[in-house]
Amino acid sequence: MRIPCPYCGPRDAHEFSYLGDATGTRPKNPSAPDAILAFHDYVYPRGNPAGSHRELWYHTNGCRRWVEVSRNTLTHEITGARFAGASIPDASVPDASVSDASEKEAVS
Ligand SMILES: [Zn+2]
Repeated sequence: MRIPCPYCGPRDAHEFSYLGDATGTRPKNPSAPDAILAFHDYVYPRGNPAGSHRELWYHTNGCRRWVEVSRNTLTHEITGARFAGASIPDASVPDASVSDASEKEAVS
C-alpha cells in the first residue's frame, strides 16, 4: 500500500506509523464533571469500520508530519490525504488523491 503524503508524495506504508481513527474529538473542558468519562471515550474505545474511514498516520521515515488519510478498510483504496489538522486543503500541494489498485496489501 502506498500513502500519498502531501509533502513527500506517494510513499510505501512501511515508512509510516499508524495511529488510528482520525474522527475523534478531544473533550474541550477537562474540568467538566463528566471529563473522566469523556476522555475515556475519546482515548480508548475504537471501532473497526468496514469501508471508508479517516485515519491518522505519522510519516516516521519521511517528513515526520501527521497525515490524515481517507482509506477504504476493505479494499485499501486511498481516496485522499492531507496534513492532520488542516481544515482547508493547501492549494500549493499537488492533489494527493491516489487510487492504485495494483498495490493493495494489508497494513501491519
Ligand atoms: Zn511525508
